Amino acid sequence: MPATAPPASDQIVLPLLTWHQTARRDLPWRRDRSPYAVWIAEVMLQQTQTATVIPYYEQWMRRFPDLAALAAASLDDVLRAWAGLGYYARPRQLYRAAQLIVARHAGQIPAARRELLALPGIGRYTAGAILSLAFGQREPVLDGNVRRVLCRLYDIAADPNTATVTKQLWTLATELVNAAPEGRPGDLNEALMELGALICTPRQPRCAACPVAAACLAHARGVEADRPLIQPTARPPHHTVVAGVIQDETGALLLIRRLPTGLLAGLWGLPGGVLLVGETMEDGIRRTIRGQIGVEVAPTALLTRIKHAYTHFRITLFAWRCQHTAGVPQPLQCAEVRWVLPDALPGLAFPATDARILQALKAAASA
Ligand code: SF4
Repeated sequence: MPATAPPASDQIVLPLLTWHQTARRDLPWRRDRSPYAVWIAEVMLQQTQTATVIPYYEQWMRRFPDLAALAAASLDDVLRAWAGLGYYARPRQLYRAAQLIVARHAGQIPAARRELLALPGIGRYTAGAILSLAFGQREPVLDGNVRRVLCRLYDIAADPNTATVTKQLWTLATELVNAAPEGRPGDLNEALMELGALICTPRQPRCAACPVAAACLAHARGVEADRPLIQPTARPPHHTVVAGVIQDETGALLLIRRLPTGLLAGLWGLPGGVLLVGETMEDGIRRTIRGQIGVEVAPTALLTRIKHAYTHFRITLFAWRCQHTAGVPQPLQCAEVRWVLPDALPGLAFPATDARILQALKAAASA
């Protein structure tokens, strides 16, 4: 019989756990429930697809198999292991938090919410994941998947991103985790997230295959496709960006290291910047490179064009081959500037856009 009222916790918990036992995907981070493994995976998975995270996670765990290895590494090593995954504040916070855990907690990730929340980059969601998945505590999680599942199960018709509804969702998530059998709060949280990832997907939820369909209020009312309520958002702004590919006669590339704060902080890349309204690309390249590293260049040919979306804006990046015509490179608006031979490129951390330019350069050289 279809639901006519919001479900009771026990209508959800046991069917969900039973389904989860067989439906659960075998993912690398699920084979290691140590607090360190859970923490790394949860930070990598935020706003990033599972398939993208898998190779990064595996590489990270080979490079930094435990917290001690992470805390003892250099920041450059950490950024390099993360390069291409985006959201570069995260590896910096992981690194800083690892060092604080060594200093404050003798290298052991704390099993208390208050102590976890005091660490950089650990919010309520990550703390809940570590405490429930690694330590078996009755702590809720509320990520995008759980948010959507709860909005549908309880037919919450208001905007789920408001403070009021967020509070309501945390309360519901807490009730569910409190109803989990002894020793299974982590499984319950993982099952909720898995249901959102596999069955209760953003578009076209697969209600016919859903283990909790009989209790789902939105499904009973036929409004699951309208939950959660999505507020139309303005299209993020777009910027045109130019970058200079400058090589000397030995093939060395002129690279900059970005400042230690802001977007892409501390990562390496090609010099350049955002084009002004009405400015030609050639003028923009000359202006931005002059301001950034104090040299004069002559753009000669377009190498490649790349589109990329960041969280709050989109860019189209035009990379031009340039000749260095005058001036000694100096870090005027960057942390460092350096001529780098191709053999040394793998030792530097690049964001996805610069890595794609370097791939295009390599492809052009071998064509
Ligand atoms: S019945 Fe449909 S809408 Fe409800 S939780 Fe299951 S998949 Fe989601």
